[in-house]
Amino acid sequence: MPEGDALYRFARRVDAALAGKVILAARAHGPGPVPQVERLTGAMCLGARSFGKNLFIEFDNGLALRGHLRMYGTWHVYRPGQPWSRPESEARLVLEVADAVVVNFSAPVIELLETRALTLHRPIAGLGPDLIADDFDPAEALERLRDPLRADLTIGDAVMDQQVMAGVGNIWKHETLFRCGVYPWRRVRDMSDEELLGLIQTARDLLRASVGKPNGRGLARRPEMYVYLRAGQPCRRCGTKILSAPQGVDIRLTAWCPRCQPPPPGCAGPGLSPGRRR
Ligand SMILES: [Zn+2]
Repeated sequence: MPEGDALYRFARRVDAALAGKVILAARAHGPGPVPQVERLTGAMCLGARSFGKNLFIEFDNGLALRGHLRMYGTWHVYRPGQPWSRPESEARLVLEVADAVVVNFSAPVIELLETRALTLHRPIAGLGPDLIADDFDPAEALERLRDPLRADLTIGDAVMDQQVMAGVGNIWKHETLFRCGVYPWRRVRDMSDEELLGLIQTARDLLRASVGKPNGRGLARRPEMYVYLRAGQPCRRCGTKILSAPQGVDIRLTAWCPRCQPPPPGCAGPGLSPGRRR
């Protein structure tokens, strides 16, 4: 699933292709609700930006597009006349300007909204601060993590909660927990503010490194993967075999190093998922 860093890169490409240009043609296709994007024809694009895993494209006629890719969606930019890598039947959205064609393939969410209503739109209104943004506020993310509703969540689920902080998906969940030495099944209520702030800052550093932005750790552009998709292989740090178990409401596998991320005494493991308690 594309995470905040992938969406940031998509937004940069879409912005470079569309910003300041007049939309010559716009069309959308199902499955699902088809937004009336013909209303964008003749409007000028004001720019594209990401927020967490969302991509927004705004126009000078008061309208904005929101796209969310979930598992399989992607954004492509082509020159006019250039062959596409996938058939138009798979395109959800096509936007044409004089020198570029922007195509979204397979996004389950493409919505046309009024720009002034964006902040009230339900899927966006509750989002936590965007981890990649220059003005990200770790204290706000901590406050959201400390919401009593989240006290019983495992930390592996909580760091992916987009209403805590926007941008972390399954990949950066894994790598953030490993780098902080945190066992994925610890409960939020059992962790100190210092530990939670360490996780928040590490997630931000990893995402910003991935898009080439300055980060607190001086991390390189493509941070090495320590545990994501490495179950059964030796830990790159200590050599112990990486374990994995299902976690969260979507019961996807979480991998961790039992030596670098040991459970604290008395901490319940994968057998007691918070899903059973809710
Ligand atoms: Zn290890």
